[in-house]
Amino acid sequence: MKQIRQTLQKEVTYNAIMNMMGHPTAEEVYKAVHEISPHISKATVYRNLSALEDKGVIRRIPKLGTGSDRYDKNMVPHFHAKCKLCGKIFDVMLPLDGVLEKAKVMDDENFNLISYQLILEGTCSECRLKE
Ligand SMILES: [Zn+2]
Ligand SMILES: [Zn+2]
Repeated sequence: MKQIRQTLQKEVTYNAIMNMMGHPTAEEVYKAVHEISPHISKATVYRNLSALEDKGVIRRIPKLGTGSDRYDKNMVPHFHAKCKLCGKIFDVMLPLDGVLEKAKVMDDENFNLISYQLILEGTCSECRLKE
């Protein structure tokens, strides 16, 4: 019975993030889950997000400076741009095929690349309009 409940809670978390726009924080996913299933605890939602990340269903964008880690359901390879003023995250398409092979890791010629993150920082057009 416990197993079934855990699976259902994972499904609620999964459905919540799939119905959200953009790149929500764990807190935002929890709020969305809470509206549907108020009995699911924050710890459970956070654990389910980690489990979904481990499975490769969603991915985590580590926080940049201030703010929280965010989750991304778009698994097509892409990068992110972050607005320094409002913190909004935008998807960035940037073909890097063949470019990373040329990357030189200083002081370790045999460094084995497993993954990489690239975050562009700037100000979004909405924030610039307000200025
Ligand atoms: Zn902005
Ligand atoms: Zn994204």
